[in-house]
Amino acid sequence: MELSRFNCGELGLADIGRNVCLCGWVDALRDHGEVLFIHLRDRSGIVQVLFSPEQTAADSYTRAGSLKGESCITVTGTVVARIAGTENPNLETGLIEVAAYELTVLSQADILPFPVSEKAMIAGQPKTAGNVTEDLRLQYRYLDLRRPSMQANLIKRHRINKCVRDFLDERGFIEVETPILTKSTPEGARDYLVPSRVHPKNFYALPQSPQLFKQLLMVSGLERYFQIARCFRDEDLRPNRQPEFTQLDLEVSFIDEEFLYELIEELIARMFALGGIVLPRPFPRMAYCDAMDTMGSDKPDTRFGLRFVEATDIFQQTSYGIFRQIVDRGGCIKGINIPQSSEQLSKNVLQNEYAKEIVPGFGAKGMTWMRVQGDKLESNIVQFFSSAEQAAIRNRFQAADGDVIIMIADASYDIVTSVLGELRLHLARRLNLIPEGAFSPLWVTDFPLFLATEEGITSNHHPFTAPDRTDFDPFNREELLSLNSRAYDLVMNGEELGGGSIRIHDRDVQFKIFRALGLTDRQVQDKFGFFLRALDFGAPPHGGLALGMDRVISMILGAASIREVIAFPKNRSAYCPLTEAPSEVAEEQLAELSLLNLSSWQELPGAGENSDLLDNLSWVSRIAVSDQERPIIAAALKEAEKMAENIAVQSGEDMPLFSILPVKNQMRKEALAKNSYLAETGQMLKNAPAVKGAFFKVASILE
Ligand code: ASP
Repeated sequence: MELSRFNCGELGLADIGRNVCLCGWVDALRDHGEVLFIHLRDRSGIVQVLFSPEQTAADSYTRAGSLKGESCITVTGTVVARIAGTENPNLETGLIEVAAYELTVLSQADILPFPVSEKAMIAGQPKTAGNVTEDLRLQYRYLDLRRPSMQANLIKRHRINKCVRDFLDERGFIEVETPILTKSTPEGARDYLVPSRVHPKNFYALPQSPQLFKQLLMVSGLERYFQIARCFRDEDLRPNRQPEFTQLDLEVSFIDEEFLYELIEELIARMFALGGIVLPRPFPRMAYCDAMDTMGSDKPDTRFGLRFVEATDIFQQTSYGIFRQIVDRGGCIKGINIPQSSEQLSKNVLQNEYAKEIVPGFGAKGMTWMRVQGDKLESNIVQFFSSAEQAAIRNRFQAADGDVIIMIADASYDIVTSVLGELRLHLARRLNLIPEGAFSPLWVTDFPLFLATEEGITSNHHPFTAPDRTDFDPFNREELLSLNSRAYDLVMNGEELGGGSIRIHDRDVQFKIFRALGLTDRQVQDKFGFFLRALDFGAPPHGGLALGMDRVISMILGAASIREVIAFPKNRSAYCPLTEAPSEVAEEQLAELSLLNLSSWQELPGAGENSDLLDNLSWVSRIAVSDQERPIIAAALKEAEKMAENIAVQSGEDMPLFSILPVKNQMRKEALAKNSYLAETGQMLKNAPAVKGAFFKVASILE
């Protein structure tokens, strides 16, 4: 009798008496002498199967005795109720078990590199990979992915992707795939390059994002595009970064910022709802300068307070030397009131840990601290402040008994805000100020369009972001740095989940931006000529955004890192322990890609340079040219060049024909077929790789 397959995790009391066939992996084995129990696991869950001499066919019973963990098996048997008292409340299927009568081992498992079972039968056992190193998990990722918690992550990821697709489809978006082998799309990272064999010394770039293509799709009139797209950025390694990652990329025509805020808030709310998380709507918004001014970050964590208080003006006349100097140099003094923290933040902690160790590590020279005791301030330097200054501090910081005030003073506004920003996070963690399970979304808006660099300026987002006004002078650095962009970032709990902008759709403005970035006409043409050209043909106003899906999903699932929600991630060093990528390739392969000068005995001529026409021809035809041959061939080439010029003049405006003769060996009627004397005497082309009689083969590219 052929039995249909049932899912292990779906069996229950209603199935008692049913004969079933199960397929899966041996999660755990327990040998009770006569009776052998196993936990059989498939994607749906785990069920207990028992083998006994009474119920199990003799040969199957013997086979069961030598089963190994993680072997792949199929079992047929009957669903029975467990004997009272032996139920397992930690298993979904814990009220029943399957009495097996037949067992087939589909594939035995070797000794495991680490335990795969998450021991669902033991109460309270955490579902983690225990002490297994991440590299070992990644090396045997296929086993790691057998673990129910990892499968749950991938299944959730699938559900979230599906929710995205359904929602955007509902809103009239069309999913379009864009190229992976393409030209550089600048997003501020290095490109991953792919050498072209067919076009020696030319490279494709892997897309840092589909930015240019999605804008081109708007020019094409697609109106609403999205893609769950793979992006590649060669950036410095960070724990939660992958060289390739997935973005939900979208673009819309004829809209403004408000359209996108509404769309994305609804989308994000639906995605988070799949993790049981309700987000507050509408999402609050904050201008970039306010975020920097009050939280020292363009992706501020708004789950807790500790906002900065401006204090520079209080110390205009101060006699406290350090502050005096900073004020005189046009610097900045800001602080934070940490309410009711004087018990945890003792003098010792503030002075010896924070002022001496932690704060210098964040990049400031020092930190000023004061503890509020009654209506007095207490610290190692409070005596340097006048009573008017002390009163102003208490007032400005709204100081109450038991509070602690810290201040950072520096000639540079950027140092003050960034150090206070780090301190704010450090203190919040130390003092447990971040509420468990809170989600605090925020739109950050009104970014500066450009950032100052040592060499000049650079785009804060990417060069296709629309400025807030278009009448700027592209060569006036001051003015450029004063421009804001129409960009917006979506931030949640101090992490940037995504960002986008309204784009430039006017060719001249786009050109001006490239000039402002210091690109020459030539560079603009080489890098973005095709894109500017597209803006010549009725480009609609448009804007869009991209969300980092790995981050969003790991946040929804509460995963420890983005690698927990990616099937086959690279490790923290951008290396894949499973496939051992990146790996070395054979020299021949490099040579074929024009990436290598082979050692002298096998050197392909011209591999190193492409400036010399002769070397170049010799390289593409794979025919070595000796020193004696060079002048003869060079003269012949000159002749050919002259002829080509003549033809060009003769043909005038007419398009040249690419092939004037059918491609076969032909001789002029009156000409006597004769072999070249130079070839015959071996003076010429003696290194031709494939010689047939008096002929030699040339690469078809030469034809
Ligand atoms: N292409 C941008 C990025 O990858 C997002 C966007 O502007 O739509 O960050």
